[in-house]
Amino acid sequence: MTSIRVLSVASEIYPLIKTGGLADVAGALPAALAAEGVAVQSLVPGYPSVLRAVGSLEAVYRFDDLFGGSARLLRGLAHGLELLVLEAPHLFDRPGGPYADAGGSDWPDNAFRFAALAWAAASIGSGDVAVHRPDVVHAHDWQAGLAPAYVHYGGRPRPATVMTVHNLAFQGAYPAGLLSALRLPAASYAIDGVEYHGAIGFLKAGLQLADRITTVSPTYAAEICTPEAGMGLDGLLRHRAGALSGILNGIDTSVWNPATDPRIASRYGPADVAARAVNKTALQRRFGLAEDSSAPLFGVISRLSWQKGLDLLLDAIPMLCGQGAQLVVLGAGDRPLEDGYGSAATQHASQVGCVIGYDEDLAHLIQAGSDAILVPSRFEPCGLTQLCALRYGAVPVVARVGGLADTVIDASEMALAAGVATGVQFSPVSRPMLEAAIRRAINLYRDPDSWSRMCRNGMSTDVSWRNPAKRYAQLYRSLLDSRA
Ligand code: ADP
Repeated sequence: MTSIRVLSVASEIYPLIKTGGLADVAGALPAALAAEGVAVQSLVPGYPSVLRAVGSLEAVYRFDDLFGGSARLLRGLAHGLELLVLEAPHLFDRPGGPYADAGGSDWPDNAFRFAALAWAAASIGSGDVAVHRPDVVHAHDWQAGLAPAYVHYGGRPRPATVMTVHNLAFQGAYPAGLLSALRLPAASYAIDGVEYHGAIGFLKAGLQLADRITTVSPTYAAEICTPEAGMGLDGLLRHRAGALSGILNGIDTSVWNPATDPRIASRYGPADVAARAVNKTALQRRFGLAEDSSAPLFGVISRLSWQKGLDLLLDAIPMLCGQGAQLVVLGAGDRPLEDGYGSAATQHASQVGCVIGYDEDLAHLIQAGSDAILVPSRFEPCGLTQLCALRYGAVPVVARVGGLADTVIDASEMALAAGVATGVQFSPVSRPMLEAAIRRAINLYRDPDSWSRMCRNGMSTDVSWRNPAKRYAQLYRSLLDSRA
C-alpha cells in the first residue's frame, strides 16, 4: 500500500485551540489515518496558544507579504501532531478567540485571516514550500474554503482537494469588493466560482471547486441537499451530489476512556457500570443537587444556541422536575439561554444545576456521572457529545437528525427485544416530542435491566476513529486513482 500525503487545513486543532467539534476532528484524525498509510501534516493559524504549545519550531518558508504583513511557516511537533503553523502576527497574534474578540464581535479582518490560511495551504500544495508536497489538500469548514479555490486558480501542478463541511451554518461570506484584495482572479467571481448571492462565499468556493466534498454523517449529507437544511447551498450540493459523501466522526478513545480517565471520580468499564454511581454522587455534589441515587440524572454539555434546541429543553424543565428527574447543564453561548438556565438552577436548586463556561474536566465528569445525555439539536452534522455518552455508558437522548440519527439506536420495542438499543431518539424536534422522549427515558430508567443493557450496548459500540479513518483513506485513494 503506497503512502499518501495529506495536508489538513483547519482553523482549530485539539488540544491546541478548540471552540467545537472541528478541533476534535482535526486533532484526532491524523493519528487514525497513520494506521491506514496516510501521513498527515496539519496547517493551523499561529494563534498565541498554538505558538505557546509547540515547543521548538523550525522556519520552513517566509511570505514577504501575506495580506498586509510578513509571515512564516513553522514546522513543529506537538501531541503527536505534525504541524505547520502559520505565524502571521498581524493576523493572529491577538488576545480573544480564534474568530472574535473577547466581547464576542467577529474580528473585522477575518476574510484576510482565513484567506491567509488558505493561501498558505495552496502554496504548500503547489510545492513552493520546502516540505513534502501533499497529494491531497483537505480543507475543513469555511475558514479553509478558499484553499481549493487558490489551488484551482493557481495554474500550477495541483494537488487533489477535498472540502469537508462540519457545519453548513457557518459559511464565511464577504463583500464582493474584496475580490482582488483576496488575490482572486476577476473570472472567479462567477456562479461556478467564488460568487455567492452577490458576495464572496468561502465555503461556497470550497464546495464548488474541491474535487470531493464530505460531511460528517451520511444523514447530514442527504439533509444538506434539501432546501430545508441546505442553508442556501442545497442547489450547489445537489449539483455536486456525485462528489459528496458522509463519513461519520469518531472520538479520541484514549482521551475519552472511562477505564483510565483521570478527570472522573471513579473509573469503570462495561463490566462494572454500577460503579458509575460514585461519579453520579460526585456530579450531584458538584452542582449542589440532592444526592439521590434513584433520581434519573440528565446531563447537557453544549454550546448554548438555537441549533442545539436548548430553548426547548429550558421550557421542558418543569416537566422534567415534575417527574423527579435532575438536570445538569454545562455550556456557554446565547445570553438568554445562559440566563434562563441560571434562573432554572436557582428556582429548582435541588434538581437543576448549571455551569456557564467551557470546562473540559467537568465535561468528563458529566459523561461519567449522568444517567442520560440530552442532545435535542434542531440540526446536528455529526455531534460528538452523544458519541462520548455511548463510550461512558450515559444513555443518549437525541433528536433524530444528522449524525444523531446515524449513531444512536432508538429503544423501540423491536430494538429492546433484540437487545440492541443504545438510546432514545425523537422527531420532529419540538417541545412535546422532547418531553415525550424524556418521559420515555425515565420509564426505561425505572427498568434497571433494560437500562443497564442499553448502557453496556453503548459502551461496546465502536466510536473510535478506526472506521472513519478507513473511509477517508479510501476516499483519498479513489480520488488519486481517478486523477492518475
Ligand atoms: P459543535 O461542534 O456543534 O459545538 P459537537 O457535538 O460536534 O458540537 O462538538 C462539541 C464538542 O465540544 C464536544 O466534544 C463537547 O463535549 C464539547 N463541548 C461543548 N461545550 C462544552 C463546554 N461548555 N465545556 C466543555 N466541553 C464542551
